[in-house]
This record gives sequence, structure tokens and C-alpha cells, in this order.
Amino acid sequence: MTTQETLTKLHELAHWLGSPDNDFAILAEGNVSAAVGDEKQTYWLKASGSSMGSMKPDQFVLMNTARALSICDHETLTDADIKRTLFEAREDATSSLYPSTEAAVHAVCLTDGGAGAVGHTHPTPWLSLLCSNRAEEALAGRLFPDEIVVCGIAPCFVPYTDPGPPLARACRAAIRQYQETWDENPKVLLLQNHGLFALGKDCDEVRRITMMSVKVARALIGALMIGSPNFLTPAQADRIRTRPDEHFRQKLIANY
Ligand SMILES: [Zn+2]
Repeated sequence: MTTQETLTKLHELAHWLGSPDNDFAILAEGNVSAAVGDEKQTYWLKASGSSMGSMKPDQFVLMNTARALSICDHETLTDADIKRTLFEAREDATSSLYPSTEAAVHAVCLTDGGAGAVGHTHPTPWLSLLCSNRAEEALAGRLFPDEIVVCGIAPCFVPYTDPGPPLARACRAAIRQYQETWDENPKVLLLQNHGLFALGKDCDEVRRITMMSVKVARALIGALMIGSPNFLTPAQADRIRTRPDEHFRQKLIANY
């Protein structure tokens, strides 16, 4: 896919994620990114302050991945240092657009997380759970088979962290811990008191993950209101993850 084709797909994804009907993100909430090429040396990212639901193609910035990641390596950067470093991490120095403040989190998801595209939103059902004192209880198991087929064997929980480099470092640590535990990349990052990151191989998978993950959040809220979630056992969940017909379903929904 060319740089421009990647941008076109990302622009469509931003509009869908920012549609008021979906209640995933309003105003300037959320952001999206997509890696360009297999080497992932650059990626498209929503510009700071733009609204996903109505943004134009020229409100994305092409970022240098290594330079965006470099802010993770310094623990003493001031807010002004961070803003300047991310501004200088743009590939087009003539642009006046500032990249999203979560540029480094996206770079971490696209590199450490193995994603090809990333969608970050603040869906109200997830905020209800992640801003409650029962968030970790709600994430302790899987509810139903399609959750595992689309969103993976488990979500990757990230405790509340200051936005910017601290959040990027926390996401990187959580992703690496997840990979050690499950021997695969996470598809869903859930940030305490913040929101959702969907990590897909492309923009279409980000859409499917976001859709299913928000349905999971609604089901969890319902289960918590009725009683307690009746999670699948680890053996049942692992069976869904590994059985061949579920792989067939994954291929089918990949065309959706
Ligand atoms: Zn956010």
C-alpha cells in the first residue's frame, strides 16, 4: 500500500471512529495512526486538536517512527521539550501542524505492539468501567467466544499514567508483559481512567476490534449490574483461541 493509500484508509477510519452515532470519541478526543510500508520507518498520525469525525486528509502528519520513539528514552523532558521533539519528528518540516500528544504511544503500538494501524478512542461504556473501582475485576476473564476471536485472549491493562512519555513507557511495559504471558501481541490496550487503544494489522481490523471491544464493555456493565460476570474458564477460553474452526471464523470476519 502506498503512503497516500494508507492515508486514505486512515482518514476513513478516523471518520468512522469519530462518528457521533458510535459514541467512541467526541470533539478532539482520540487519535489514529497507520504505519507506512513493512519497515514502519514512518507513520501517519492525527494532528493535535483536530476532530476525528470531521477531519480532512491534510490534518494528518507523517511522523518519523524512531524520532517519535526517542522521547521515551528521556525521563526529564519538560512539556516544552516534548512538544518540540515531536514537532521535529515530523517528516515534512514545512508543515505547521503539531502531531497528537500521544505520538509516542502510537509509535510503541506500531513497533513493540506489532500493529499496522491503531485507533484510540474514549468509548463511554469503557470509560464507565475504567473509571470505576471494579475495573480490574471486570477485566479478569473473557465473557464470550466472539470476544476472543476478534479482541484476542485478553485485554492489556495499563494503570493510570500521565499522558506523553510516561504513558508511552507504561504501554510499552504492559505490551512486553502481555507478550511474555500470552506469546502473542495484544489487540486491545485498556488505559485506566482514560480509554481504549485498538491494535490491528490494518485499519479494517482496528474497526472490528473497536466495535467488538465496546460490545464487551456493554456486556460487562450489564453483567455487573445483574450480579457478577460469569467468565469462561481459562481452558474454555484457550480452546476458542486454538480451535481450527475459530481460525476459519477469524478469516471470514477479516473480509468484513
Ligand atoms: Zn485519550
